[in-house]
Amino acid sequence: AATTGVVGRFAPSPTGALHFGSLVTAVGSYCFARQAGGRWLVRMEDLDGPRLVPGAADEILRTLERLGLEWDGEILFQSRRVERYEAVLDQLRRSGHLFACACSRKEVLASAPHRGEEGPVYAGTCRDGLPPGRPARAWRLRVPHCTVGFHDCLNGEYRQCLAEDVGDFVLRRADGLFAYQLAVVVDDAESGVTQVVRGADLLSSTPRQIYLHHCLGFAVPCYAHLPLALAPDGEKLSKRHGAVSLDRDGGGNLICQALRFLGQNVPEGLQGAQPAEVLSWAVRHFDRAKVPRSR
Ligand code: GLU
Repeated sequence: AATTGVVGRFAPSPTGALHFGSLVTAVGSYCFARQAGGRWLVRMEDLDGPRLVPGAADEILRTLERLGLEWDGEILFQSRRVERYEAVLDQLRRSGHLFACACSRKEVLASAPHRGEEGPVYAGTCRDGLPPGRPARAWRLRVPHCTVGFHDCLNGEYRQCLAEDVGDFVLRRADGLFAYQLAVVVDDAESGVTQVVRGADLLSSTPRQIYLHHCLGFAVPCYAHLPLALAPDGEKLSKRHGAVSLDRDGGGNLICQALRFLGQNVPEGLQGAQPAEVLSWAVRHFDRAKVPRSR
């Protein structure tokens, strides 16, 4: 049971079954939270309709259960929170943080002053109003010319100049979908998350999320970005590379594998142990200093 104010979370996108990369994130975030005596929440990031796979959310939850990764409280489904995101968007609109943008993807690309860390930087075309006769497509957040930095528990200092590196970014897409950047911030804040432990592919999204936390007056959580499991071809491991399979063992060995990937010296004696036993060892012995750095 949780004894401290620490709240961690695991936030999979149900675009397929759990694969080794997401297992590493689940185990890592679980160990961080439980070792701190905190709660560990699960949130389904099921906003992006076209990318969702029917049944994947259930399958992920069943796998977590079988692996003994017990979460606290109710699962939060993003698909059930669109009214809330709409309200937050309204709030940002009223406070002057948002503007409507008419640019197509092609236009953004063609007018980009340069390529930032996250792709073409928005040129600011619609910042001061829509061009005459053009309808609004997306809603963007106005970003300032200032550096947003933070201390990642595993990777140290990370900073970005939002204007230079990213540009005004989309919170509501042309197709009406709320952007991941908005949903993640609103949900983390409203679930009381204090500790965000996730894959290093999201390191470069973090300054945008911190800025949004500030715009909304939310407390900023602390962050730890775990190394990414890569496929043999060096690509980021994804659902495409196959789900983890619990068939042969009870799942204990899979957790051992994830822990070893996170640099932990798992004792040989735990080979073949049940998940609960491995996790109980992990919560007691997880050593953050051993986790490989991502940068
Ligand atoms: N849903 C995202 C993913 O599956 C993770 C979001 C987060 O942890 O902030 O990669």
